[in-house]
Amino acid sequence: MRPANRIRRRTTAAVSRHLETDVLIVGAGGAGMYAALAAAREGACVLLLDKSLVGRSGATVMAQMTVAAAIGHEEADDWRHHLRDTIAAGRELVHEPLARILCADAPARILEMDDWKVGWARSGNHITQVHAPGHDRRRCVYVDFLNTGPAVSRVLRTQLHRQDSVRRLSDLIVTDLVVHDGRALGAVGLDLERGTAVSIAAGATVIATGGLTGLYRRNSASANMGGDGYALALRAGAELVDMEFVQFFPIGHLAPRLIGMDPIMWDPFRYKLGGRLLNSDGREFTQDYGAPEDGRYVVTRDTATYAIFKEVEAGRGSPHGGAWLSFRYLSDRQLRDAFGPVIDRLAANGIDLTEQDIEVAPIAHYHMGGIRVDANLMSRIAGLYAAGEAVGGANGANRLSGNAITEALVYGERAGRLAAQAVRSGVAEAQFHAAAIPALALLEEAAHRSVAGDGLSPTAAIAELQGLMQDDVGPFRSAEGLNRALTRIDELTQALPAMPVGRAAAFNLALADWFALRNMLLVARCIATAALARDESRGAHQREDHPQLEPAWAVNLVQRLDGAALALRREPVPRLDPGEVAA
Ligand SMILES: Cc1cc2nc3c(=O)[nH]c(=O)nc-3n(C[C@H](O)[C@H](O)[C@H](O)COP(=O)(O)OP(=O)(O)OC[C@H]3O[C@@H](n4cnc5c(N)ncnc54)[C@H](O)[C@@H]3O)c2cc1C
Repeated sequence: MRPANRIRRRTTAAVSRHLETDVLIVGAGGAGMYAALAAAREGACVLLLDKSLVGRSGATVMAQMTVAAAIGHEEADDWRHHLRDTIAAGRELVHEPLARILCADAPARILEMDDWKVGWARSGNHITQVHAPGHDRRRCVYVDFLNTGPAVSRVLRTQLHRQDSVRRLSDLIVTDLVVHDGRALGAVGLDLERGTAVSIAAGATVIATGGLTGLYRRNSASANMGGDGYALALRAGAELVDMEFVQFFPIGHLAPRLIGMDPIMWDPFRYKLGGRLLNSDGREFTQDYGAPEDGRYVVTRDTATYAIFKEVEAGRGSPHGGAWLSFRYLSDRQLRDAFGPVIDRLAANGIDLTEQDIEVAPIAHYHMGGIRVDANLMSRIAGLYAAGEAVGGANGANRLSGNAITEALVYGERAGRLAAQAVRSGVAEAQFHAAAIPALALLEEAAHRSVAGDGLSPTAAIAELQGLMQDDVGPFRSAEGLNRALTRIDELTQALPAMPVGRAAAFNLALADWFALRNMLLVARCIATAALARDESRGAHQREDHPQLEPAWAVNLVQRLDGAALALRREPVPRLDPGEVAA
């Protein structure tokens, strides 16, 4: 391996900057930062980059509450119980060896972060754990007052600052991976600040780009969550799995208007305080869909999304097309004891939970599908790893609350460590530069095309695509809607090359949107294609024209690119020996 901080630069006419590293990590949320730390601990020289700000963008910093791990502080627990719950929630599609890693390694990551002083909420001398839906016991840790994501991000940033061998670069959008002969050699990207191309040769590459919920009009995502990593991996020759399973968070905030607060903030309220989900008759209704709550928050996300959708369809929704969520039976003291400063921020928004109910509705929140990897988190491209939400399969058709941050931490650590151990030094320069030519040429061409015409702009096309995905590839699907979406996705894909990108060099956001749209269209096609093929209803994928779960569909759908065409096939779900799941 290279000694720390020997990332080289050089300048050529075609490439403004060329960097070299042992381990390249694309995306600096929870998974990317943990991967960087783990790779550095193995002695590797690491380049951690992000299309936005390192450690301050993506989903991790936005997350508010639960992180699932069987640390058994609140009551006796074992990672096998956690695994059993994860497999049950995943509706027969969980990649069990990956889920085993998730659950078995979770306690170590949570306790390591405790050593790093993340600030997990405590009761007396133990870490507090709450009961979240789908878990059989109190298993989820958190940092109080909706601070989990910010605290996790802060601690990881602090640890990174102590590592000399990790170089961090913000505002660098990776546009393509560089692959030669089935092996990942690095990446090519756009330096947004300078408006120039960057090439990066790496001994191993980890994709930690998070999810894709920015593809939907109603989502909990930050602007940079359009599924880049899935498209990068696909174009590099890797496979994707379970792409039809987009999780809608059932109780996203709908009304009244809420400024400066997170749309999924009602989840932690329900963990701590219960809350009542009501239809327009003022009646709790989840029991009609097989999930009686009895004052506890136990309904899983897929069932709650379905129940709200059906109540609205039956004319029993709230005025803006969702359900009511009520905490009115609680006193101001109970609310303040649980959420102190948050109650003041709600008051600033004119919301008093002792006096009024709020409206909630399903919003796109998380992606169960993703890059198909083995138990080493490596894709079928040698040297190409994935971590965090970019990984597909561990949660099957439906994810349990709290498993996503755990996944970012556990897979981040594992991917970074294993990538560093597998680094093959001595990537031939000539090989890298030859393989990078098409990606660099596209960057040059896109940046200098400077089309100022009045065609559909990438920004407008993204908005149209988000509407299309919401309406026709949302939580409830039909062949008719999916075919309509696929037709329009193809039209937009054909229109892409001529879309105007403006003339700015530095911070050309139209150019950034052009590259985002290029990925979004490919990923949208993957979701719609898989959703059309799976003619049954299961977990987060609900077909109105095929409402039943079909036992024969207990298989994974795997996609890869065959030229420009998407090839799709069924694969048996990887299972564990039953004895390994029993506690
Ligand atoms: C509002 C909200 C609340 C949530 N609450 C919880 C919770 O309480 N519990 C839980 O378990 N989960 C929760 N989740 C889900 C969880 O936060 C995410 O699944 C997890 O944080 C993903 O981590 P990650 O590191 O994989 O991706 P992210 O944290 O999303 O980071 C991905 C990074 O990749 C960068 N990137 C993307 N494309 C490129 C590119 N082409 N080039 C360079 N960089 C790129 C992005 O800018 C981003 O910084 C929540 C999610 C949201 C949105």
